[in-house]
Formats: sequence, structure tokens, C-alpha cells
Amino acid sequence: MAVPDWADESLGTMKRGALWLVQVVGEGNIFTKSQLRDAFPNIAQIDRRMRDLRDFGWKIDTSREDVGLDINEQRFVEQGIPVWEPGKATRTGAPTITANKRRELLARDGYKCRACGIGPGEKYSDTELAAQLDVARRPVVLPDGRREVQPVIECNRCRIGGRELVADLPDVLSRVAELTMIERKMLVSWIQEGSRRFSDAEQLWADYLTLPADAREAVREALP
Ligand SMILES: [Zn+2]
Repeated sequence: MAVPDWADESLGTMKRGALWLVQVVGEGNIFTKSQLRDAFPNIAQIDRRMRDLRDFGWKIDTSREDVGLDINEQRFVEQGIPVWEPGKATRTGAPTITANKRRELLARDGYKCRACGIGPGEKYSDTELAAQLDVARRPVVLPDGRREVQPVIECNRCRIGGRELVADLPDVLSRVAELTMIERKMLVSWIQEGSRRFSDAEQLWADYLTLPADAREAVREALP
């Protein structure tokens, strides 16, 4: 099937953006914000549509992922799903979130932002702003290397701040496999309770740290 031209205005913005990357920028190359704006004048949400491509496996690095880039540059690292082909631009990995599904996700994620841990209505430590929780889409690297987009609860700040978190499931699983039996039991109990219980020793360590120097010395001396 013939690949359409990126300049074809009958196509949607995201499709045109994908084709522009392939046909104009080329894989591995850098493009700037102003080049993007020049290619798509009058399209207000072009940055956002380009970010949407990540949900389809496109790898586009910013200065956050690639320290060699400056703030106005991005690198088209790798092409993903050819979204311009019929039926390919449907988000199988991230269907529309209904109100029911949203409630279910909130409960499953413990009513906390999975990026920073804040709860709904809680204030951020550095401001008077209260957090709102919503559903974000987090790319997850699966054990077989495929990327899948999974819904996750994030607060408005983490979601809009676009922390670009990618969950690395194989990494987590391999670290779990390396735990000792005792550590594994501890992890299982935290997972079951949905929170971390502190052992007496850990609680004492936290208390110890708050003690003045003489008091710390007394604790050190009390220990054999
Ligand atoms: Zn957050």
C-alpha cells in the first residue's frame, strides 16, 4: 500500500506528524520546535499530537531522555506503529476510560498518585495547590521486550509535567528474583497491605536520627 504524503491535509494531525518524522526528519535525526511549527502552522496542539505517537511505540527523545539535546530539540529515535495505515491508529492499549473504569483504577491504585504518592486533595509540599488524581497512560516494558501502554493513576502535576516514566517490568522482576527469603516475605506483606510496615529496628533508626548528638551517643553505648 502506498504511503501517503505528510503534507496531505486530509489526514489527521498525528498521522501527518508521523509521516513528517519519517519523510522529512528521518530516523535518528534531530528536529527543533520551530521546524515542527513551520511544518504545521496553525495547528495549536502539534506538540501534543507528536507526544501521542509514543502510545503507538514511537520513540521520540527530548532533553529529558537525551542529555545531548537542548530544550528546543527532540530526536526521532525509532518509528513505531504506522498510524497512517487503516485501523492502526486505534488505541488498543489504552481504550477510552469510562467513569466506572476510572473509579476502578482509582481503587486499584489506592487513591494515590503512582508517580509521587500524593492523595486527592492533599497539598503539594511546596505550594498551596491541592492534588487532583486522574488516569494517565504509562508505557510499560514487558518481559518479552514489547511495550504496552497501561492506565495508571497520577496527580495533575505529574501527569501534565510529563515525567516520561517508563515502567521497566523485567527490571523489577529480576530484582524481585534476587531478594532473600526474608526480604521476599517482607515485600509480600507490604504488597498485601498496600503500604509499607516498618520493623521495630527501622522505626528505631528513624527515631535515632531525630536525637541530638549526646542522646545518639547514649543509644550507641547501650548497644553491645
Ligand atoms: Zn503525582
